[in-house]
Amino acid sequence: MRRTKIVATLGPASDDYEVIDELVRAGVDVVRLNFSHGSHEEQKRRAEIVRECAEKQGRVVGVLADMQGPKIRTERFVDRKVILIKGERFTLDADMDPAAGTNEAVGITYKSLVDDVKPGDTLLLDDGRMTLDVESVEGSKIHCIVLQTGELSDKKGINLLGGGLSAPALTDKDREDIKAAADIQADYVAISFVSNAAEVIEARRLLREAGGYGSIVAKIERAEALVKIDEIIEASDAIMVARGDLGVEVGDAELPAIQKDLIQRARARDRVVITATQMMESMIENPIPTRAEVFDVANAVHDGTDAVMLSGETAAGRYPVKVVQAMSRICESAEKHPRVMKSDHRSNLTFNRVDEAIAMATMYTANHLNVDAISALTESGSTVLWMSRISSGIPIYALSPIEKTRRKVTLYRGVYPLSIDFTQIGPYNISSKVAALLTAEEVVKEGDRIIITRGDFLGKEAGGTNTMKVVTIGDVRVTQN
Ligand code: PGA
Ligand code: MN
Repeated sequence: MRRTKIVATLGPASDDYEVIDELVRAGVDVVRLNFSHGSHEEQKRRAEIVRECAEKQGRVVGVLADMQGPKIRTERFVDRKVILIKGERFTLDADMDPAAGTNEAVGITYKSLVDDVKPGDTLLLDDGRMTLDVESVEGSKIHCIVLQTGELSDKKGINLLGGGLSAPALTDKDREDIKAAADIQADYVAISFVSNAAEVIEARRLLREAGGYGSIVAKIERAEALVKIDEIIEASDAIMVARGDLGVEVGDAELPAIQKDLIQRARARDRVVITATQMMESMIENPIPTRAEVFDVANAVHDGTDAVMLSGETAAGRYPVKVVQAMSRICESAEKHPRVMKSDHRSNLTFNRVDEAIAMATMYTANHLNVDAISALTESGSTVLWMSRISSGIPIYALSPIEKTRRKVTLYRGVYPLSIDFTQIGPYNISSKVAALLTAEEVVKEGDRIIITRGDFLGKEAGGTNTMKVVTIGDVRVTQN
């Protein structure tokens, strides 16, 4: 059973009911709705189809609404694209007619770019495929020299090498889109181009104000974010290693070390982490991945990521279902490496909370005794979040009566949601009810040893986990309490 979760972006290639149904069947855990494209109605429809398919298949699939953020782009060309020649001049002009671009000048979507750049800066367009050297800034115009010959088409992204663009993370469009995310009950809301904790806190405030309950994902894709990474992680529920924009800003060679560091920091602070962008890029066109892509996904699993993400591969590629199947199989194999099964993490810490201590004791016991499954009765999901920060090969079942909690844990590595009704369970038959539920779900069988955690105040109070119990399925004592 795969522990690493798969996030798949929906788009034109995966818009109809059948494809979404197959994606869910192939094992997608969370779908990503990219708010850079499409209307609110389209996003809502997609979310509804996803939930309908999941329900029909008896699965739980989370919904992540990804905000566009202040992505700076070129405007459009008269002929849709131009060829720029090395050594020639090219101007980005904030005041120009957005449809009137030529091989001499083009408009830009962010008017204040002129205030953020100075002569000598390097601008990277189209994910770094085109490089421009800033020669001078004059009113609304940024005069540049083309550094290598190449094609530039409409609406391509612009990044500043080394970072330093001032645009705040939340645009007016994002503020409207957050309301739409609340409306479709997104389980996760991702904020693009975050550069400090205040932006994350503001995004959560806006979401709550709009009636949304989702967790906030900070996309780490700016050089500035790395400097304030600990405060950003602290303010977020999850982070995304957004390798696309980040790689352009800091240089691609820096990415592997940054990815490992971000994953480790997020886990250490009990936060969830998604590794994103170009993981299976060649499968946009091809039915199988490259060896390098197989290694990239496997390495992210070994680094400890909760989830791996597909963007263009499922949104616009030729093989949306095949790519999920391929990614799933790579994750499963990578998880067999002995290094990812055990953990000595946190053995030197003291804990302040009883529930956290119980979660850690459970993982220590599970990893050192022959245990087949862990089942945590949880209201908020925090017990299973702590558990899943510890490396282990043992499945963690989150038994919760709360649907929002079950959807939230779809992103947590090694955690699988199951529905349970606490009110139907008296204090004396919890073990037998849990054993019966796991047996009915066919995740355990007679003779399996499981750990159950729970609180004394089930159904009344969150965060009350104070008990850890080791039981064997089918043992006569289990049926009695
Ligand atoms: P995007 O973010 O796909 O929304 O640009 C991810 C990234 O930059 O890697
Ligand atoms: Mn990005």
